[in-house]
Amino acid sequence: MYDSIEYLDTRGYTETPLPFSTVIIKGLAAGGGLFVPEKLPQLDLTEIVKLASLPYAQQAALVFDRFGIDFSANVIDRLMQQAYGENFDTPVIAPVVEVAPRSYLLELFHGPTAAFKDMALQCLPWFFSLALEKPRDAAGTPMFHLILVATSGDTGSAALAGFRDREHTGVIVFYPRDGVSDIQSRQMTAAEGANVGVVAVQGNFDDCQNAVKTVFNDAAFTDVLAGQGVKLASANSINWGRLLPQVVYYASAYSQLVASGSLELGEQLDVCVPTGNFGNILAAWYARAIGVPIGRLYCASNDNNVLTDFINSGTYDISQRSFKLTPSPSMDILVSSNLERQLFELNGHDAGLIRKWMRELSEQRRFQVDEATFAALRESFSADWVSSEESLETIREVFQQFGYLLEPHTAVAWKVAERLRMTPDSPVLIVATSHWAKFASDVYRALHHMAPGEALPDEVAGLSGPQLVARIAEQHTAGSIPQHLAELDSKPIRFDETCANTAEAVSESIVDWLEQRRLID
Ligand SMILES: *Cc1c(COP(=O)(O)O)cnc(C)c1O
Repeated sequence: MYDSIEYLDTRGYTETPLPFSTVIIKGLAAGGGLFVPEKLPQLDLTEIVKLASLPYAQQAALVFDRFGIDFSANVIDRLMQQAYGENFDTPVIAPVVEVAPRSYLLELFHGPTAAFKDMALQCLPWFFSLALEKPRDAAGTPMFHLILVATSGDTGSAALAGFRDREHTGVIVFYPRDGVSDIQSRQMTAAEGANVGVVAVQGNFDDCQNAVKTVFNDAAFTDVLAGQGVKLASANSINWGRLLPQVVYYASAYSQLVASGSLELGEQLDVCVPTGNFGNILAAWYARAIGVPIGRLYCASNDNNVLTDFINSGTYDISQRSFKLTPSPSMDILVSSNLERQLFELNGHDAGLIRKWMRELSEQRRFQVDEATFAALRESFSADWVSSEESLETIREVFQQFGYLLEPHTAVAWKVAERLRMTPDSPVLIVATSHWAKFASDVYRALHHMAPGEALPDEVAGLSGPQLVARIAEQHTAGSIPQHLAELDSKPIRFDETCANTAEAVSESIVDWLEQRRLID
């Protein structure tokens, strides 16, 4: 047993530090802050290299245990075996592949929905449902927690797969009817499990998200539900329970590279991450902070390059920016919510400064960090961005040169790594966040020298998502396709409800769903 580590609130409104089990249920602190560990464990090099000889589940258990979470070592071991087992299509779970000399790809798409959100969402729900049973909170039966997700992409299917049949919980995903790909909507509407629900919302992602947010903040509605034993909850990427599982794969990747002889023990490895909400790259920063020999962190963005400008100037400014749609939609973000955690870590845990910056961001749409924080940021991070055209060109070039098919998010990171790496032969780990099959239309455009957004030619325009994937794989011998994606066409659609993009319509679907399952009457 290691010392338990408790969590601080980045805005300082939470009076006493809280344990892991409490912060994962809360998600966000009252007052809008995020939870951050009060101190960090340290792993030494011999421990890190030994990870490669353990199954991934045990690597994860070791890291969770060292983070002093308030579950017993036995419970952690058991949960990790369930989180990282047969549900992944490779026993390595997060394999590292050398695609070009000293360019290593960390493949995080081997989970049940073929995108990296699985790495955390196959894990968090086990802890979540067990945390609800912690005796000090539970008088009798724990409250039923209904997770609401508004998603424009990968989070929906990953949350459905992760919370499926987890006790005391349910999950309803709301997605914009006009804003997800064919594969993504099939993945969601065919989701299995007794405690899941999926609703298409008329309009775009903003409409969908606003309606769901309004329901969350509707005290009258949440009071009525609470009176019947139901609490609304979220599992978005600011939940610490989604961040901690991501630290594991950086330690794992390093140990794999030492075990395969690609790295000398202690040699520094730079890491390049395609970034949206700053969660994945922050996990790399934590991995380095606990002792993994990571060198520089390369923050890769698409046309929505607010983070590139921030890391290069110290000023975060969205006052003049418009939101752009790109082939890498999971990085189409203007307010990068996990950045707040990173700034708290770099400014010496100064909640007063965080409150000031976040107030400026909401009032003036910009803030500038002080010099010490900026220097600390520059010490760890470099940043660059890639246009939509360049990201598709990169997919084509890497496929022609090395025979490896990237998808658009990973292509952004590939290009940025190429530009920012110190020398052509300094080792760099590029994080692959999705399988190419989930973004088949743009991969097709890339391989056929087409522009982003250009209409697909007649011969493929009528194909379903899975058929297009099969066509690309046939024509380009692009390796294996995850079985569950290939079979999507034949899976029955379980959810075909569409609702208006109003809070009333969303709360009505929630009530219907709860009544059908006799969770309320
Ligand atoms: C979510 C996502 C990202 C961005 O990750 P963050 O942790 O939000 O920075 C990148 N690529 C894909 C495919 C994603 O699903």
